[in-house]
Amino acid sequence: MKALSLLIDFFLPADCKICKSPLEYDEKYICAQCILKIERINPPICKKCGVPSLNGGFCYECHRRRRYFKEARMFGVFNGNLKEVIHIFKYEKKQALSYQLGLLMYDLLQGLNWEFDCIAYIPLHKKKEGQRGFNQTKLLSEVISKKRNIPILKGLIKAIDTPSQVGLSYDERCKNVIETFLWKGDKNMVKGKTILLIDDVFTTGTTVEEVSKTLLYSGCKDVFVLCLARTIEK
Ligand SMILES: [Zn+2]
Ligand SMILES: [Zn+2]
Repeated sequence: MKALSLLIDFFLPADCKICKSPLEYDEKYICAQCILKIERINPPICKKCGVPSLNGGFCYECHRRRRYFKEARMFGVFNGNLKEVIHIFKYEKKQALSYQLGLLMYDLLQGLNWEFDCIAYIPLHKKKEGQRGFNQTKLLSEVISKKRNIPILKGLIKAIDTPSQVGLSYDERCKNVIETFLWKGDKNMVKGKTILLIDDVFTTGTTVEEVSKTLLYSGCKDVFVLCLARTIEK
């Protein structure tokens, strides 16, 4: 059945999964117009965590507590088209979308003056990766790695299969992710390095902070965080 649906995908002109208009030959699942309609996160933003902020100073959260990453930036708001595209990418398993989405992140990255030595992504627990068949953040990081010609770190693992973060409070999320991420690779790979960490959706930041903490405790110098989307409370 899988082979048949792949054949159909290949030969039949497909429609955009969001607006249903016919796709151009170089478009995959989502048309360029629907990508253009994604609500981007534009300045003024908190210079630490990238959330829109009135005067471009630190936001309330970044004032209140230490962040483990140096800076974090996100391409768009997790709503409307971007939310739909991410859903199609992750849950309808349309891995080919990783290229278009990775390019959006790459474009954002090109406008930042971040210098980094290697790229890491948020690992999935191996059971979850097995169920989904792929790790979406790994695919996104591969696009950026190729475009920038910077290697991806191997050795970060998620040791415990934590329940979904959806619907949990900030404190519950912190408890949920504590000590679940481990560095199992060669320490020399991270020692003194500045790392670009890739994630798909930034909600409260607990996941990227836990991974940043793991990398810092393993000896890295700094972690920059680049995400595709961020949930924004209105
Ligand atoms: Zn469309
Ligand atoms: Zn902030």
